[in-house]
Amino acid sequence: MRLTRVLHRQAGLERAAVEGVRLDDDTDGEVLVISARPRKGAARRCGRCRARAPWYDRGWGRRWWRHLDFGTLRVVIEAAVPRVDCAEHGPTVIAVPWARHGARFTTAFEDTAAWLAARTSASAVTGLLRIAWRSVVAIVGRAVDAAAGADRLAGLKRIGIDEVAYGKGHAT
Ligand SMILES: [Zn+2]
Repeated sequence: MRLTRVLHRQAGLERAAVEGVRLDDDTDGEVLVISARPRKGAARRCGRCRARAPWYDRGWGRRWWRHLDFGTLRVVIEAAVPRVDCAEHGPTVIAVPWARHGARFTTAFEDTAAWLAARTSASAVTGLLRIAWRSVVAIVGRAVDAAAGADRLAGLKRIGIDEVAYGKGHAT
């Protein structure tokens, strides 16, 4: 099986096309960059409401979403995110299949962080995933909104409500 097909399956990229994979360097060291784009002919949808919407502009160019690590190697998904002109929301970046609107992390990464936040200590989540506590708080907020009753993420609601108190003294 080709590497790009493996990546499709494990990175939530089933509805996207992988253009390439490369090793890159950023301020934190080496990172595996998976560049992706929406499939040809895929409908452009508003990132907020997922309604079909006409093209607006190119937005702010290419963006990175942190994905789950591959061993000790950090992984990001890179893609161009144009904006559509949503009837309800106006110019908005398009919906991408691998991440929630406004997130800097993939949905797979966020679900893992949220699951850990509900079950382990703040230092375990931030240490294992190598993210700041304020990122965990933002992730949990989005995951609580998205989960809405999913058993898999039970316990998150409490964390979501208590997050400010829970976060005190753990800020990174
Ligand atoms: Zn919209």
